[in-house]
Amino acid sequence: MALFDRAIVRVLPVVPRSVVRRISNSYIAGTTIEAAISVVRELNEQGKMATIDVLGEEVSGRREAAEIVRAYHDVFEAIERERLDSNVSVKLTALGLNLAYELCRANLLRVVRHAAESGNFVRIDMEDSSTTSETLQLYRELREEGLDNVGVVLQAYLRRSIRDIHDLAPLQPNVRLCKGIYVEPPLIAYQDYEEVRQNFLRCLRELLQIGSYVGIATHDQFLIDEGERLVAERGLTRDEYEFQMLLGVRGFAGDRLVRDGHRLRIYVPFGEHWYQYSVRRLQENPKIAGYVASDTVNRLFGADSR
Ligand SMILES: Cc1cc2nc3c(=O)[nH]c(=O)nc-3n(C[C@H](O)[C@H](O)[C@H](O)COP(=O)(O)OP(=O)(O)OC[C@H]3O[C@@H](n4cnc5c(N)ncnc54)[C@H](O)[C@@H]3O)c2cc1C
Repeated sequence: MALFDRAIVRVLPVVPRSVVRRISNSYIAGTTIEAAISVVRELNEQGKMATIDVLGEEVSGRREAAEIVRAYHDVFEAIERERLDSNVSVKLTALGLNLAYELCRANLLRVVRHAAESGNFVRIDMEDSSTTSETLQLYRELREEGLDNVGVVLQAYLRRSIRDIHDLAPLQPNVRLCKGIYVEPPLIAYQDYEEVRQNFLRCLRELLQIGSYVGIATHDQFLIDEGERLVAERGLTRDEYEFQMLLGVRGFAGDRLVRDGHRLRIYVPFGEHWYQYSVRRLQENPKIAGYVASDTVNRLFGADSR
């Protein structure tokens, strides 16, 4: 990322919310479930699967967490009613992890059981490193209760991930493997771009070795190419792994994967709590400075009054 872009990333938190909203529109399906359904339907028509995320991390009370649980119930009903090819992704802080472990466990159980009733699947997103151990512990507890329609996420920037794969191996976990988006200290996380890539590949090889179903979640063409090579090398059929991408990011690379016969799942977030998710996406956008600058120019000169 160029120096100017890095500077913009640092000041993003003070960029007005209305600007963040405008330039992050493509990353989010909308604020309503109807908007999410419409985006998923369109993706399905393009031969892509989806995973719907109800935005709402770090809730501050039990009532808010209960609302998120209810929102997921509505999502499952909509997926079934509309016959969509989609599962869901949940953030444990949205289910109350920072309020109380047991509360979060109960909420997660509700969501996963409801998914099971309609033959659906729940992916537990991975958040910052303060939540990693509890997230993996909750995943383990659910699997030990016999719930198989649940998967977890591992982050290649974390030094611990390779150990986590070994620890989880007896469960043959269904894992989304991604680089990781939160800012973590060097003691626990690789900082160097190439090191993260290499650890991504190491984790991917290990996961395939233990027989895991892997969601290879990246827009990095080098990792996509290597992922394709590794699944071919192991002779996996197309339903034994999938690629995953975020809504609004490198759509053309996703189209190519689908054309080449791979399964691709797109992460489709929706809801009122769009701000934190949007800021994280903008921080990763290599063209962020240009977007913020052109939005500012448009506002100053009235060229764009959306
Ligand atoms: C389906 C999915 C689910 C995820 N779930 C989690 C999770 O649970 N926990 C977690 O910590 N992280 C999650 N992530 C985010 C992930 O950890 C990375 O931060 C993110 O995918 C960027 O890494 P990359 O592998 O795409 O490589 P990068 O090197 O960051 O990106 C490769 C290229 O993709 C393009 N690109 C990437 N991001 C953007 C963007 N926002 N806007 C425009 N262009 C972009 C750029 O051209 C960039 O050069 C998820 C990612 C995906 C795809």
